[in-house]
Amino acid sequence: MKVTGNIEVARKIRHAAQDASWGFVPTMGFLHEGHLELVRRARRENDCVAVSIYVNPTQFSPEEDLDRYPRDLDRDISLLEDLDVDLLFTPDNNVMYPANFQTYVEVLYITQFLEGRSRPTHFQGVTTIVTKLFNIIQPTRAYFGQKDAQQAIVIKRLVKDLNLDLELVICPIVREKDGLAMSSRNVRLNPEQRTAATTLFKTLQKAKAIYLRGEKDAELLRRRMKEMIAEQPLAKVDYVSVADPVTLEELSTIESSALLSLAVFFGDVRLIDNLLID
Ligand code: AMP
Repeated sequence: MKVTGNIEVARKIRHAAQDASWGFVPTMGFLHEGHLELVRRARRENDCVAVSIYVNPTQFSPEEDLDRYPRDLDRDISLLEDLDVDLLFTPDNNVMYPANFQTYVEVLYITQFLEGRSRPTHFQGVTTIVTKLFNIIQPTRAYFGQKDAQQAIVIKRLVKDLNLDLELVICPIVREKDGLAMSSRNVRLNPEQRTAATTLFKTLQKAKAIYLRGEKDAELLRRRMKEMIAEQPLAKVDYVSVADPVTLEELSTIESSALLSLAVFFGDVRLIDNLLID
């Protein structure tokens, strides 16, 4: 595996295998099974695999956890070596955002809901860095997790609207045995918060069960989800949502499908999860 933080070096490695198909997995590192599943799938479906590890400052707002975001590059490198990755791109901030940087990429409408409402500058940072990474790596296929459901939708929109020449592959959420969605941020939970955090998936599952029993009233489901999380004293709801899975607008009645999603704080650790009902 070649490891570089240099754009020209990364491009040379990419172009040395010009005719090969390249699978690409962008990450912020501190890798877990959720990331590794994306890499395994990229490995199966492509001749070459590139991964990036970059904690992108422009997708964090000043009061968020950029400085506390967990990092362990040595461990990540050895995990990726075991998966036979060809290229690991690990740029620094001055490589991705050199002095006088002033160009951003923005998806306008669907970024205003859910995560975008709670984190107004987040998606502009995501779409800018993802566009830059796509331009550097020029992947045939790029792999993202359903864990970040809105991000997957936003990036689909970006690829379509800007005619980016690649295929997106969205992979299922990988969970711990007790249902908690794997996340690099989970290590920041203390043991009590870690136990309490199972409320995210339990709440989504219970809401789905209520729906499957015939309840179509989305507002009632949102209320029930809030109540379930409120039963957990360490949890503080940021949002709960029952939205149209395509437009992300909040539903009043569930006709045929819905994206159930939520964001919950445990102390200063903010976790998200979602479940699609169809
Ligand atoms: P991150 O390092 O958090 O930016 O995540 C990098 C990629 O891994 C994103 O496409 C995420 O959606 C995906 N990912 C993160 N956690 C999981 C998970 N538990 N299951 C599946 N994909 C995930």
